[in-house]
Amino acid sequence: MSGSVNVATGRQYLAIPGPSVVPDQVLQAMHRPSPNIYAGALVEMTAGLIPDLRRVARTDHHAAIYISNGHGAWEAALQNTLQPGDLVLVPSSGQFAIGWSEMAQGLGIETKVLDFGTSAPWDMARVAEALAADTAHRIKAVLGVHVDTSSSIRNDIAGLRRLLDEAGHPALLMVDCIASLGCERFEMDTWGVDVMVSASQKGLMMPPGISFVFFNDKAAAARRALPRVSRYWDWEPRANPQEFYQYFGGTAPTHHLYGLRAALDMIHGEGIENTWNRHVHLAETIWAACEAWGADGPLRMNVADRPIRSHAVTALDIGAPDGTRLRSWVEQNMGLTLGIGLGMAPSGSPDWHGYFRLGHMGHVNGQMVMGLLGGIEAGLTALDIPHGGGALEAATKVLAGR
Ligand SMILES: *Cc1c(COP(=O)(O)O)cnc(C)c1O
Repeated sequence: MSGSVNVATGRQYLAIPGPSVVPDQVLQAMHRPSPNIYAGALVEMTAGLIPDLRRVARTDHHAAIYISNGHGAWEAALQNTLQPGDLVLVPSSGQFAIGWSEMAQGLGIETKVLDFGTSAPWDMARVAEALAADTAHRIKAVLGVHVDTSSSIRNDIAGLRRLLDEAGHPALLMVDCIASLGCERFEMDTWGVDVMVSASQKGLMMPPGISFVFFNDKAAAARRALPRVSRYWDWEPRANPQEFYQYFGGTAPTHHLYGLRAALDMIHGEGIENTWNRHVHLAETIWAACEAWGADGPLRMNVADRPIRSHAVTALDIGAPDGTRLRSWVEQNMGLTLGIGLGMAPSGSPDWHGYFRLGHMGHVNGQMVMGLLGGIEAGLTALDIPHGGGALEAATKVLAGR
């Protein structure tokens, strides 16, 4: 048989950085008739979701659930802590920090963005300078994205807390863990994070549609000091509901709650530390292959240094138009979908077609990662894109612990 036989038929693998692979357990939990939203199983189940969410976030403080994607959680965090005219500091390592700052601007909040580009983590010295220069404490919050999904940079949240403490600066520390919650080690309370936002469709292994805002007492006090808070986004009734409706500001996201129950059972069944370790091990497997491919030929990992790479997403550059050619080939021939490059080059520009990303967040295991890597290797070979050898062997060595 020639190599042109199409082998795409079979279970498709969506290896993009969100939405991620939804486990059968979650799908099956959601596949049910509409439940009663006034009493019974759904109502009884919901209170138990909050402590299990808090365990994923490593916080003993408050949690609110919203019927929204991550953009909604961004807005919720801002609406509960800030008002028009307030200033926020936004160190940026990619598109999502910029997106959150634009969300703030839309609410009339002034933003000071420290843009560190798309391949570097925060320059802590420059963040410290900005905090030290703010002697009047005009900065009310620092918005930090833990893993910027566009660049695959992982930033140092505990380090950012230290800067605030060293400067004696009272600004709230607000963190976007949309790409990292349930994937990367994150310690909300130990690291001194005041507000954390996340969403359902990445490490939490669910369809998009619900999001989460976690906040401590300092942030709760900032909320109470505001003259008014958008009724829908107000986190207070959601975190301290008198009746079931208040959890959600209206009708409950019924099926998502059953899905969330199943997803949390899976995470706590594995053990959150084990979940984090699995992500590290699978990321190192992927990196071994990418580094081998890149040893000869155009493929380049966007983040050169291992300690600042995300364990949930990998951004790659192979030169235009081969990024798009490779994505198309593996989708059409292997049943494997890779992520587009985001924020690395303007969409529509020729360069845009050089970038792509691998999502390895949530419900992913060793054989899936080997399928992902094998599919890419086949695509590189079929398209005559030059690449270093031994990538799959390097990856299997990591998996084998050698
Ligand atoms: C996906 C993502 C978002 C946006 O989430 P939506 O659900 O698409 O609104 C924001 N921040 C990060 C880090 C993300 O990965």
